[in-house]
Amino acid sequence: MAEPQEVDVVVIGLGPGGEHLAASLAKAGLSVVGVDRRLVGGECPYFGCIPSKMMIRAAGALAEGRRISVLGGSADVEPDWTMVADRIRDEATDDWDDKVAVERLEASGARVLRGHGRLAGPGRVTVTTDDGEQELVVRRGVVLNTGTEPAVPPIEGLAGTPYWTNRDVVQLRELPTSLVVLGGGAIGCELAQAFSRFGVEVTVVEAGERILGPEEPEASAVVAAAMEAEGIAVRTGVGVTGVTHEGAFGIGLADGSTIAAQALLVAAGRRTNLSDIGLDTVGGDPSARAIEVDEQMRVAGVDGVWAVGDITGKGAFTHMSMYQANVAIRDLTGEDGPWADYRAVSWATFTDPEVASVGLNEKRAREAGLRVGVGVAKLQESSRGWLHKVGNDGLIKVVADLDRGVLVGATAVGPAGGEIIGMLVTAVHAEVSLDTLRGMHFAYPTFHRAIETALGDIS
Ligand SMILES: Cc1cc2nc3c(=O)[nH]c(=O)nc-3n(C[C@H](O)[C@H](O)[C@H](O)COP(=O)(O)OP(=O)(O)OC[C@H]3O[C@@H](n4cnc5c(N)ncnc54)[C@H](O)[C@@H]3O)c2cc1C
Repeated sequence: MAEPQEVDVVVIGLGPGGEHLAASLAKAGLSVVGVDRRLVGGECPYFGCIPSKMMIRAAGALAEGRRISVLGGSADVEPDWTMVADRIRDEATDDWDDKVAVERLEASGARVLRGHGRLAGPGRVTVTTDDGEQELVVRRGVVLNTGTEPAVPPIEGLAGTPYWTNRDVVQLRELPTSLVVLGGGAIGCELAQAFSRFGVEVTVVEAGERILGPEEPEASAVVAAAMEAEGIAVRTGVGVTGVTHEGAFGIGLADGSTIAAQALLVAAGRRTNLSDIGLDTVGGDPSARAIEVDEQMRVAGVDGVWAVGDITGKGAFTHMSMYQANVAIRDLTGEDGPWADYRAVSWATFTDPEVASVGLNEKRAREAGLRVGVGVAKLQESSRGWLHKVGNDGLIKVVADLDRGVLVGATAVGPAGGEIIGMLVTAVHAEVSLDTLRGMHFAYPTFHRAIETALGDIS
């Protein structure tokens, strides 16, 4: 074992938040060691947001091309996956090589260790590298940003088959003819629609009663209908009971039916990386699904340890990881806040139509005991939606706390749902009164103008 090294801060796991935090603290003059066992930057740039959104951008262009015949002429659309695969390899991931990210982090003054990091008691971290073990003695704090792995459910027969996860599909050079997507969450739906638009015969199987379960039911219904209209089979309310693979996959469902497909993508949620990072050595719980943090991102009940990103259970989004990293940076550098505030968390699912949400949905607002009012406006019935014609599926739903006269949540589904939600995020975050919102100007004919209709519909 190499001599123990003393440093100010050790970051275990360099996802988006961890990488940003390590660089920022090093630039602020602290001695920082960042540890990652895979690629610096984490899931988002190499296997998640960025490659998937490149697929979706290309698939969206194909879909728009196919809409030309309804709006202004004719176009022959000939998908070519090679262009997407090349773009992901060359522009997004450098062929899944993090040399640039490592150099950038080192240029900020941090040291990067490639290996598995784990806590080894208060103020100590052990890193297992290819060259052996490195022990680190930490003066100021350890920050955990170990993120998630694809969760693979214990379905009979599945383990022995060549199923894919998101980490495989972003590296595909050729597409299958048919694909079953196990899981109708955000990742499953985004990828299902992208592959379908490239000509793959896609079935989505979701055990819950609807796809996009955490979203408003109205949003799930709009997306399911849009996916089905494009030829995607959406099977909800039915679990997978067994998987076989003899040349092709056989996916057995709880209703007794079997789906045959060339490929199987498991998109059935994520498993947090908490079990093997030595939490027990500092009094933490390695079997927890998420790690409890306070508003400064300090791990509850454990001195000298902070956590950011998916492992905190506050929303598995890149922007959450970055937001929390900034909070932890402020705490570690002795600033006096602002600390974490989760009232107006927003997120987007890049299906077509896009689904974006902020704050509480109607069900959660009612569960919170609020006197709830909701308003809905259909995008097709707005001026812009009518003009837009094909591809105009969508709606805006706002959720108000009637006692306080403010919005506590909203959902925007539509061609630009992720952009429409912007002003609603401001409204929820800043607790702008309903009277003020109703008195605003809404440019004609924009998609966001439907917000005015939704506000007028609140009852
Ligand atoms: C297909 C897909 C699409 C997505 N699309 C979006 C999107 O559009 N928008 C969005 O906001 N989010 C999206 N996400 C989620 C997003 O990728 C994550 O929320 C984001 O990466 C933040 O994760 P994180 O910071 O917790 O860490 P991660 O990105 O998960 O990184 C954790 C890092 O820790 C390392 N690590 C783990 N354990 C150890 C250890 N013991 N020692 C050393 N290193 C360790 C891992 O190797 C990894 O590099 C998507 C995810 C997927 C899978």
